Amino acid sequence: MKTVTDYFGSSVFDDRVMKATLSAKVYASLKKTIDEGAEIDIGVANAVAIAMKDWAVSRGATHYTHWFQPLTGITAEKHDSFISPSPDGGVIMEFSGKELIKGEPDASSFPSGGLRATFEARGYTAWDPTSYAFIKGKTLCIPTAFCSFGGHALDKKTPLLRSMEALNKQALRILRLFGNDSVKRVTSSVGPEQEYFLVTKEMYDLRPDLRLTGRTLFGAKSPKGQEMDDHYFGVIKPRVAAYMEELNDELWKLGILAKTEHNEVAPAQHELAPIYTTTNIATDHNQLTMEIMQKVAAKHGLVCLLHEKPFAGVNGSGKHNNWSIATDAGQNLLSPGATPYENAQFLLFLCAVIKAVDDYQDLLRISVATAGNDHRLGANEAPPAVVSIFLGDELNGVLEAIETGTPYKGAEKTQMKLGVDVLPKFNRDTTDRNRTSPFAFTGNKFEFRMLGSSNSIACANIMLNSAVAESLKIYADRLENADDFETALHEMIRKTIKDHKRIIFNGNGYDESWIKEATEERGLLNYRTTADCMPHLLDKKNVDMLTSHGVFTEAELKSRYEIMLENYCKTIIIEANTMVDMAKTQIAPAIEAYAADVAKSAAAKKAIDSSLECAYETGVVRKLSVLTDQIASESEKLENALNSLNGAKDIGSESVMIRDSVLAVMSSLRLACDEAETLTSKKYWPFPSYADLLFSVK
Ligand code: ADP
Ligand code: MG
Repeated sequence: MKTVTDYFGSSVFDDRVMKATLSAKVYASLKKTIDEGAEIDIGVANAVAIAMKDWAVSRGATHYTHWFQPLTGITAEKHDSFISPSPDGGVIMEFSGKELIKGEPDASSFPSGGLRATFEARGYTAWDPTSYAFIKGKTLCIPTAFCSFGGHALDKKTPLLRSMEALNKQALRILRLFGNDSVKRVTSSVGPEQEYFLVTKEMYDLRPDLRLTGRTLFGAKSPKGQEMDDHYFGVIKPRVAAYMEELNDELWKLGILAKTEHNEVAPAQHELAPIYTTTNIATDHNQLTMEIMQKVAAKHGLVCLLHEKPFAGVNGSGKHNNWSIATDAGQNLLSPGATPYENAQFLLFLCAVIKAVDDYQDLLRISVATAGNDHRLGANEAPPAVVSIFLGDELNGVLEAIETGTPYKGAEKTQMKLGVDVLPKFNRDTTDRNRTSPFAFTGNKFEFRMLGSSNSIACANIMLNSAVAESLKIYADRLENADDFETALHEMIRKTIKDHKRIIFNGNGYDESWIKEATEERGLLNYRTTADCMPHLLDKKNVDMLTSHGVFTEAELKSRYEIMLENYCKTIIIEANTMVDMAKTQIAPAIEAYAADVAKSAAAKKAIDSSLECAYETGVVRKLSVLTDQIASESEKLENALNSLNGAKDIGSESVMIRDSVLAVMSSLRLACDEAETLTSKKYWPFPSYADLLFSVK
């Protein structure tokens, strides 16, 4: 039997394959590009292309594609076969360095937010050698960045790579100040925990809302939901276990470090977490993971739902973005160090994150903003829309001691050696947990918990890397010019704590009183919806920061603002249209048919005995009749609200109209339909119920 070690990464053109198939010279040159970002020359690219093609063809591949991540949020690929005609009437398999490095998909239909006029439809894709090529089906997939002909980024990978570069540059400046001259590169790493739901294909097919929008737009509460907490970490059912087994195999073949799997809080909800890796690879891998999750589900007669809120009344799905920064020597810069200097350095990096999260709360909120995620944030199942940081008692105590200049009285455990004279000593092990914080320090990394399950993790990490790069830049500018490094360092740490402690909150983030305190006393931002937060992407301070680090151009930011709000509007418009359609053509007719039957039965009874009251029948028919009237009028209101969107002058005002008028009518239409569901015979109801859906997979 083959073991995992035999086939792990077998579909990946990874370092092992490169070493085995490239000449020593080509390998060394490619490694330099991968590790240090050195430019690649065409001779090397040609050699790599041939080796890649030979390897892929020997594994059954017939095509190659530049695999990229346009702003649709999913991945895109256009396949070209390797074939090239030979004079004898046959074909040979060909692939050149030029084709490896650059592609020109006719990509005119991808969202560009006005960055690319349709007459200049050409965009080009550029190879990202830092993320390994891999085979999917019969296609060699080459991870690429996607830009307009004018050089504007049209994808998520380009700004992500730029943000990693910005962070690298500023972090190196800080490390040099601490006397570290040997580190060549600082990289951010991510381990994204991915939540999802599984339902059977039969049930799914009966729900137009799931098929068209990914979530249920109607559905009365199931008598049993997640009240018993019996699903969380519960025994995995055989069908789910078979699914997870095949999913792991497929992910492992692709070199994805699938590690942890378990049942989540809601019935039918599960989680998969990989071992963390470099941010851009983690991002590619997470996109692939979501794709493979859906593919494998189909093979098992299941559907994998990645929507943030597939069901009302039970938890939705998120994604926890575990983030840290480390040197090429393997030192985690968010890990308290063993020597006094490392310890001070740790505090400085910690402060950089605190400052970044406070200064750019809005960008972090924006980075997770989608119509789907708006249902989760602040709904007592996910962090609120208010961004704050959890540090735990230990670190909190350390910071307080620094701020007030008092000695730190740490716990009894072994204490760290003395910090740079003035800094307190403290324990290395800070293991407290807080599940309600949007941004929690968990010992040697931060866990950003606001992401929705279907989000690409690129956006969150672009903002996080950039904001931290900005803090580090401010620190480096100051420290490089300081007369006395240690005094300046201490002062800066102290100032950061003083200026930014409002962002630190160690209590219960789900508590209503926290939102009041956060917004009224601490002045933290609370952007509840995508429509609320998105305009702030273009606030001057945000544009200045992101452009100064070369992460986005102003034009790119404007285009992203347009695209993200367009996505928000389109998503909700499709949902609203689906609701109207379901209500009018399926729900109302079903209720009518049932009510007519009940009325008929009452009439039949009265024909037998006219003194019978038929109170039950009369009651049901009356209630259903009121509800069908409501359904009709709410449907009409919703249609009118949708029609009035035509009058919106731009995407910003359209999003506000949707937030203020469309969403509320959708809720009241749903309310009437859900109540009718509880009164209508199951035989007449056109869709599987919540109980059917949530407990469908055995
Ligand atoms: P939890 O208690 O949240 O389940 P785990 O230790 O299981 O924490 O980690 C969850 C995720 O965090 C995993 O994907 C893991 O690989 C990742 N992770 C662990 N250490 C780091 C790190 N230093 N940087 C980034 N991610 C990390
Ligand atoms: Mg976690």
